[in-house]
Amino acid sequence: MYKVLIIEDEPGVYMTLEDRLISEGYQVTVKEDGISGETEAKKGIYDLILLDVMLPGRDGFKVCENLRDFGISSPIIMLTARNTDLDTIIGLRQGADDYISKPFEMSILLARMEAVLRRYSITEKKINPQTNSIIFGNFELNRDRGILLKNGVEIQLNAQEYRLLEFLAINTGKVMDRNDILDVVWGYDNESTSRTIDVHIAKLRHKLGESEIPKHIITVRGRGYRFDITQNQ
Ligand code: CA
Repeated sequence: MYKVLIIEDEPGVYMTLEDRLISEGYQVTVKEDGISGETEAKKGIYDLILLDVMLPGRDGFKVCENLRDFGISSPIIMLTARNTDLDTIIGLRQGADDYISKPFEMSILLARMEAVLRRYSITEKKINPQTNSIIFGNFELNRDRGILLKNGVEIQLNAQEYRLLEFLAINTGKVMDRNDILDVVWGYDNESTSRTIDVHIAKLRHKLGESEIPKHIITVRGRGYRFDITQNQ
């Protein structure tokens, strides 16, 4: 099941969108302003982001730019009320994958969503669309069930270990610094430190059987960690 984040402040638009996307089998989260939308998107758990341009707090172009700078690579479709070439150019330059002008036909938006999701799945991730799984080596991170499997057998992870692994895996290839990991996996307001991350990384590596020689969870000195999906066991 794909997770979609809608960042849109007009109830008439997001309520219609939410209803339709849920009935099409998407899992939907809505944020009504640019700042909370950006924070939510930075969790890195969304497969697709629908991003309005004219938003309270922070406009959609800026949100898009910030998300790309942060390392979020999920496809972004901009929803623009102003059907001008300039908007389109700005949006695409800030890293959006596509745009659609309001008012739009739902069937056209759905087709565009499917197209970017298909492109993204092929180029960015090894995904099994049936289970929304990320495949690496002998492992399958099954995001529908929220579990990790090795050769089809579940490996027990606690909630934090799962979220940490999911966050690294969906951002595969990118360096995630310790502050990003703390913010997303542990949340802003608690007493966790970078030591907490290192301890959990060690546990995850142990469970992945790569305590000695990391294959998937790679340490990037002075910065953080990078997930490598390509290594075989
Ligand atoms: Ca708006």
